[in-house]
Amino acid sequence: MKRKQFKAESKKLLDLMINSIYTNKEIFLRELISNASDAIDKLNYRALTDKNLKVDRDNFKITISIDKDNRKLVISDNGCGMTEEELETNLGTIAKSGSLDFKNLNKNEKDLNIIGQFGVGFYSAFMVSDEIKVESKSADEDAAHTWISSGADGYSIGASDKDLVGTTITLTIKEDNEDATYSEFLDKNKIKQIIKKYSDYIRYPIMIDDEVINSMVPLWKKNKNEITNEEYQNFYHEKFFDYEDSIKTIHSFVEGKCNYHTLLYIPGHAPFDFYTKEYEKGLELYSNGVLIMDKCADLLPDYFSFVKGLVDSNDLSLNISRELLQQDKQLQLIAKNIEKKIKNELEDMLENDRENYEKFFKAFGMQLKFGIYNNYGINKDTLKDLLIFYSSKNKKMITLKEYVDNLVEGQDKIYYACGETIDKIDLLPQVEKIKDKYDVLYLTDYTDEFTVQALAEYDGKVLVNVCTDNVDVESEEEKENIKRENETYKDLLSEMKEALKNEVEDVKFTNRLKSHPVCLTTEGFVSMEMEKVLSVMPNENKVKAKVIMEINDSHPITEKLKKLKGDELKNYSKILYAQARLIEGLTIENPTEISSLICDIMAK
Ligand code: ADP
Repeated sequence: MKRKQFKAESKKLLDLMINSIYTNKEIFLRELISNASDAIDKLNYRALTDKNLKVDRDNFKITISIDKDNRKLVISDNGCGMTEEELETNLGTIAKSGSLDFKNLNKNEKDLNIIGQFGVGFYSAFMVSDEIKVESKSADEDAAHTWISSGADGYSIGASDKDLVGTTITLTIKEDNEDATYSEFLDKNKIKQIIKKYSDYIRYPIMIDDEVINSMVPLWKKNKNEITNEEYQNFYHEKFFDYEDSIKTIHSFVEGKCNYHTLLYIPGHAPFDFYTKEYEKGLELYSNGVLIMDKCADLLPDYFSFVKGLVDSNDLSLNISRELLQQDKQLQLIAKNIEKKIKNELEDMLENDRENYEKFFKAFGMQLKFGIYNNYGINKDTLKDLLIFYSSKNKKMITLKEYVDNLVEGQDKIYYACGETIDKIDLLPQVEKIKDKYDVLYLTDYTDEFTVQALAEYDGKVLVNVCTDNVDVESEEEKENIKRENETYKDLLSEMKEALKNEVEDVKFTNRLKSHPVCLTTEGFVSMEMEKVLSVMPNENKVKAKVIMEINDSHPITEKLKKLKGDELKNYSKILYAQARLIEGLTIENPTEISSLICDIMAK
């Protein structure tokens, strides 16, 4: 036997593998099975082009055997095998293309995740083995060879008496220690489980004791019209752990620069942890039927993070030694197409299956809204047509497009109001009058206002909060009248303002209210609803809305007010302001004071 040293960079990776704290040690089996499958592919292909090469196609298989007593796990294939030279170059050197920069690879969990994600092939077997023996006979060479290594200090190559073409890899599984129970890799059921998990769709049979473990044809590679909805849903339940059916199944095969199959599902409800930091988005990523990543986050934009499913492409490599960048580019291309596909399917559902869309929106609408205002609104054009809001006129959810398609004569704005529930918004004083004339969108998610502010306009129509004071719906005459009224009672109003000087910026009469006596409006960027949201955030400096108290000019209380002065006017002002806050769903800071003021009046 000849003793040899590993090339420098191989040594580093080996060291990393042998001392790996990587939790997914089981992936070594996926790697070895993939190699075996590739080797059979190669031989199969060569036999197609070289008539002198005789192969038994029906007998192609990967065989696994376990010898518990001697801690041996054996993976055998009847693929192309390796010559002495190939054993040396393929297994003596890693990163043949030299593209991977091991300088930056350190022994921490994050880097090891990279390993798990891209696959490291053969070397990963050192995570679980004290020694690896490879016996191989190439279709091109009469003699067979043995390659043996116990790790970083090198390997030996010598003769072997293997007589069939192919490769047999014998792992001597490590003893258990505090960190890991390696013995599980000598357990037949565990091995079966790992095969099912990662290699179910390998095209050749994977055998243990004459039993075929893998199913060989993945659902997503079957023809759409051969698959029943029940099959799709069973697969979904099993694979993505949802007890409910998905709302939408998207199955497609894309041909082009990069060929791939996708099978995507839109769930009917949000997972319990969906709106938490714990939730991990991502699609399963397969390379030619072999699972290479559980949750490939790069395949989904954040705003579609609810989508479950998988991508399988023959154009992606498991191989870490390939250009990672190039791989990234392909992934990016797939991700772009997937995004478009999901968007189209959602639009289609919105158009043709509104009931289901509303169900979808209830579960995940918030995520789309985040998507609109995240990253400075960069994605708002992608997402704006997927939004639906409750409409006061239609008494159901409508899109922004549906809103602007039905503007009334002279209307050039989109009106909305915010509050906790549809019912509460419907009762807001500012909404009461304007909704007779215009459709008003009712926004009930706490993030809605941020979303609307990020949008700013739709189809050239500005979005206007009816609870802020820049709503301009009165006629010129009405405007004149109220201006005069405010002028006439200037002194009265400033006395009221003085009584509320820490609470409001201004007090004025309005003709925008119908039956309510009073309301609060805001000036500037921060609205009452936003103040509510922002005030529960752990912030040192509380953000305050610039509040204006508006009094209904045609309400009987106004006549009364005009006759009051001094303390009485002051007390009435305080009660009115407290009322306005309560209507807005805000708390009052001085409930006992207000309560006794009311009692005083009642007792009179
Ligand atoms: P890769 O990601 O390229 O498969 P590996 O380290 O797993 O990297 O394997 C290196 C090379 O060794 C493979 O590209 C292949 O040429 C060869 N090889 C590995 N396993 C086998 C096998 N079972 N039969 C034939 N060749 C193999």
